[in-house]
Amino acid sequence: MNFKYMHPKDEIIEIIHRIYENGMTTTSGGNLSILDEDGSIWITPKGVDKGALTVEDIVCVLPDGRVNGIHEPSSEYPFHLAIYRSRNDIKAIVHAHPPALVSFAITRRIPDTRIIPKARELCGRVGYANYALPGSEKLGEVIAEKFSAGHDTVLLENHGIVTVGAGLLQAFQRLETLDLCARVTLKANSIGTVRVLSEDELELSRQTVTLDEFEPQGHSSKENEIRKKMITLVRRSYAQKLVTSMEGTFSARIDADCFLITPIGMDRKYLTEEDLVVIKNGKQEAGKHPSSSVTLHKEIYAKNSAINSIVIAQPPNILAFGVCDAAFDTRTIPESYLVLREIQKFPFGMEFGKGGDDYPAIADMVSDTMPVVICRNNCIIVTGNSLLQSFDRLEVAEFTARSIIDSKAIGSVVPIGAAEIDELEKAFNL
Ligand SMILES: [Zn+2]
Repeated sequence: MNFKYMHPKDEIIEIIHRIYENGMTTTSGGNLSILDEDGSIWITPKGVDKGALTVEDIVCVLPDGRVNGIHEPSSEYPFHLAIYRSRNDIKAIVHAHPPALVSFAITRRIPDTRIIPKARELCGRVGYANYALPGSEKLGEVIAEKFSAGHDTVLLENHGIVTVGAGLLQAFQRLETLDLCARVTLKANSIGTVRVLSEDELELSRQTVTLDEFEPQGHSSKENEIRKKMITLVRRSYAQKLVTSMEGTFSARIDADCFLITPIGMDRKYLTEEDLVVIKNGKQEAGKHPSSSVTLHKEIYAKNSAINSIVIAQPPNILAFGVCDAAFDTRTIPESYLVLREIQKFPFGMEFGKGGDDYPAIADMVSDTMPVVICRNNCIIVTGNSLLQSFDRLEVAEFTARSIIDSKAIGSVVPIGAAEIDELEKAFNL
């Protein structure tokens, strides 16, 4: 899907549905707009169900203030106008009341985007606007002031969030990323003490990879079958919030020296079979750009002939364990222990080959007894003998993490005992 060629009405419909499906707005709350080249503002209407909006419902406010459309513009039109007037690089605005960000807005705190790499770059500077009456000129003033000061994301006191962008997709990605930071922080605080990345660590995560290219001589049926399976699972992962629009990598082995991997910088929701990148003998398919973690995938495949698939992701409940000091004990239910075995957390930087002398490479550690590792303040790395097995391990890990976190509201976790673990290992030949 290329937003460059879409009409603003279609863009707004596409993004409002993504926001609604992601649980980031109710039918009544939130509004989106796009500033057109001629100065018109396309905006969601007032009082129409956000879950069932169609292109006909989108309203256009012309530069002279006349309104084209079958509805009135959103009641928050005044603050959209004030934001566009505050900075001329802003071409799109998203406003919503996602529960996790509202938790911050009502406790009057700003989520820290330094809990994971790239979130600060994606979200830009996060500002905080004092409370003002919804729909009022005053609200427009206090928000526009923050955007004039250079913020790209502004939390509204006792209200919600506003993000902006050069396009609607960028504004959406900022909302999604800040919402993830908020959800992870809320969860992590219920199980431990949250740690944020230092400037040096943030710099380390900005590594880029350049591989030599090769021109593929055709595509085998095995390769194309893997492409299809991978796209199916990437889309499922996005729908289940196991990956975000811009983060989350899948790879699968095609043969001894060749694997398929997801690209960098492409929206996971719209990924297609042709976007995937073949890596062969350390070279990348010409004209494509593999995930920045491609070197790690290459090392894991080279050292572990039984591993045929790897998934690297940032699901919220696992990340909550990743950003705090709580240990992740998989001895919760038999499924968790059987599928995940033992999960260890490793220091930030190992996934970039910079873990320090005390730690061996991740490629040397993953095995049948440790198929899954968590990299602090970054991600979970899941390996498997097939795409489906890695995906299943990812799902089980996220479910397990969620059960442990949610259980804090009612009591302490009682893990399965050592004798019962022995019994499981014998019964399932582990
Ligand atoms: Zn609102």
